[in-house]
Amino acid sequence: MRRPVYLDYAATTPIDPRVAQTMLACLMPDGTHGNPASTAHETGRAARDVVEKARAEVAALIGAVAGDIVWTSGATESDNLAILGAARQARSGHVVTGRTEHKAVLDTCRQLEREGFAVTWLMPDRHGLHGPEQLRDALRADTRLVSIMHVNNETGVIQDIAAMADICRERGILFHTDAAQSAGKLPLDVDALGVDLMSLSAHKVYGPKGAGALYVRRAARRRLEPLMFGGGQELGLRAGTLATHQIAGMGTAFALAREELAAEHERVLELRERLWSGIEPLGAVYLNGHPERRVASILNISFAAVEGESLLLSLRGLAVSTGSACNTEVAEPSYVLRALGRDDVLAESSIRFSLGRFTTADDIDFATACVRAGVEKLRALAPEGRAPDKSLKIR
Ligand SMILES: *Cc1c(COP(=O)(O)O)cnc(C)c1O
Repeated sequence: MRRPVYLDYAATTPIDPRVAQTMLACLMPDGTHGNPASTAHETGRAARDVVEKARAEVAALIGAVAGDIVWTSGATESDNLAILGAARQARSGHVVTGRTEHKAVLDTCRQLEREGFAVTWLMPDRHGLHGPEQLRDALRADTRLVSIMHVNNETGVIQDIAAMADICRERGILFHTDAAQSAGKLPLDVDALGVDLMSLSAHKVYGPKGAGALYVRRAARRRLEPLMFGGGQELGLRAGTLATHQIAGMGTAFALAREELAAEHERVLELRERLWSGIEPLGAVYLNGHPERRVASILNISFAAVEGESLLLSLRGLAVSTGSACNTEVAEPSYVLRALGRDDVLAESSIRFSLGRFTTADDIDFATACVRAGVEKLRALAPEGRAPDKSLKIR
């Protein structure tokens, strides 16, 4: 059987072979396997040079200075460090976030509630966007931090981070953004966006899993406390020996993303338009997220008059995401789509297609044919195109 066509790039992307080369150069017997912190040895100095080159490459993609990049194990850790670190340093107070954030932010803010902090959970509009005015209304005298993601991982919606960060800066409130889904997809500049903290992940940008970074604006350093204690590495914000090979891979991934961003955007956007124009004629399909304010790589669609589980079964030839909580036993409808106002039935019959560097026109044509055949067959089985009555389903 043919391998499923991979259209799940927003979940994880394959490692670019050029990234793997850099990583191998660290791992092979004659490679850079010193401890970047032990610069008394030649091997340590070589490792430090690799790490610092990568730091400059990551910084360059987001318009930052290299010294403001802190290495982590991924965007999850970066989100934890930013949110817990800023709130705990302030000892008490209030934090604002959104309902459609990634679990790495939601669960971290829930932890803050358990520790006695107050959290406001902003509801997005039907397109998934937060209004700057809505944020302004949520701020309190004791607000310490606002955390709003740049690009949503299920819908691809792009928030107006600059406008929101501006409101926070006026009041001296720290602003954090999770940019795991915008790095390599949109031009990024921490100064233009006005953010104090930005989470990044290597594996969403064709780098290795288990590598990430947190951008920390210099002026925000002392307002953050570490999660881990040890050798004082990374400005004292993240103790532990650095994973040279992972970091080298992340650096190459970010350097490639910077070189290829514009061309890749054009190509991926064209492919996504091709997919949508193949699916839209089915009728009773709804685009999730804002029609324009979206990254090129994501297409999230609700299919009316088909049952979610059957739809997924009929798409076995495609590696796609339903956006439902796949890490739990019970498949629940996506909380992101529910927050946009989709009912449970439509939320359950939704598919996120995400495209990337290795997606071909052939993949798109195959996917289009799969979806058309699957949906048409299921709708022919359902009585007069009515959505199957979910209340009859025994759970
Ligand atoms: C993937 C992702 C994360 C988690 O990143 P890891 O590097 O896997 O920990 C966090 N936030 C968003 C928006 C993501 O897409």
